[in-house]
Amino acid sequence: MTGITGRYIQPKQVDDFYASCPGSVQIATLGQSVEGRNIQMAALGNGKLKILMWSQMHGNESTTTKAVLDAIAFLSSEEPFAAEILKKCQLRIIGMLNPDGALRYTRENANGVDLNRDAIEQTQPESVILRSAYEEFQPDFCFNLHDQRTIYNVGFSEQPATLSFLAPSMDEERTINKSREHSMQLIAAINDAMQNEIPGNIGRYDDAFNANCIGDTLQMLGTPTLLFEAGHFPGDYEREIVRKHVFHSLLVAISALSNESYLKNDVQSYFGIPENNKRYFDILIRNYSGGKKGDLEDIGILFREDLLEEQIHFVPYLQDRGELGAYFGHQTYDFSDQKDRKYLKNSPLSSLLDI
Ligand SMILES: [Zn+2]
Repeated sequence: MTGITGRYIQPKQVDDFYASCPGSVQIATLGQSVEGRNIQMAALGNGKLKILMWSQMHGNESTTTKAVLDAIAFLSSEEPFAAEILKKCQLRIIGMLNPDGALRYTRENANGVDLNRDAIEQTQPESVILRSAYEEFQPDFCFNLHDQRTIYNVGFSEQPATLSFLAPSMDEERTINKSREHSMQLIAAINDAMQNEIPGNIGRYDDAFNANCIGDTLQMLGTPTLLFEAGHFPGDYEREIVRKHVFHSLLVAISALSNESYLKNDVQSYFGIPENNKRYFDILIRNYSGGKKGDLEDIGILFREDLLEEQIHFVPYLQDRGELGAYFGHQTYDFSDQKDRKYLKNSPLSSLLDI
């Protein structure tokens, strides 16, 4: 693992990491962001199979960046397993595609554009850089790496979606052609391996087609593409545990590609991964009465992620109230319980609850 931790990663930390890589990792500057920050790519290995991956297309999604840098550090080490992979693969990794958004901790780039809705028009320099890297390399596989919010659960279970995957669609009909089938087979292979690590915590994303999303566009162009989403693990708001799971998923994926073992999986095992639902609040308070008699309701609270003095602060806000029986909380309190009520009254949540 690299020494880069927490939710807020500055572009300079990634640049410094690249600068510290051994000579076996080639670092190239692909171009500049809207505000002139360098967008760099690491290249490793000299095998036949070509894999392109990029992280932090959304500036406030840093977990997979930590994981890809961990992967670069591991693969450039003396580990025999690393050498084996690099004999079979060529990896190109863009660790931080949206450095301006990363610095501001915003989803969008400096022009306020969501780069994952700019794949066709390519109005932004970051979109052009990614597309050029793709066209120049002509990869056999692409990994599109993101974070997802804490609101997702797996299927109808109370398990949070710690990792989620998607084999993006190539058209409105969600056709499964050979390229999409390969994405699905690879996800099934990752799921099989990762179920040992986080049983029940892996979900599948909805595959509605949107050509402006980069994954859908690349799938349309015939390159098997995978969407990775780093999600929530209980208590892990800094996403240091999830980072390890993403790192392992990356190694599993690269290894399954390099020995072609993923081809033994079928499409049905991909569809066997439960779809995600949005059933979580960060805090759920049951049986809230606000001091009045009768009229009990549930209160659903989420955390806003505010950047303040180079740190991310998790600020609670009221998201929903009423009958929330079908929902779960990463923390749950029962307002009718004296101990919980006392705790809430003395906590920072009291101003939000008006108690
Ligand atoms: Zn994203």
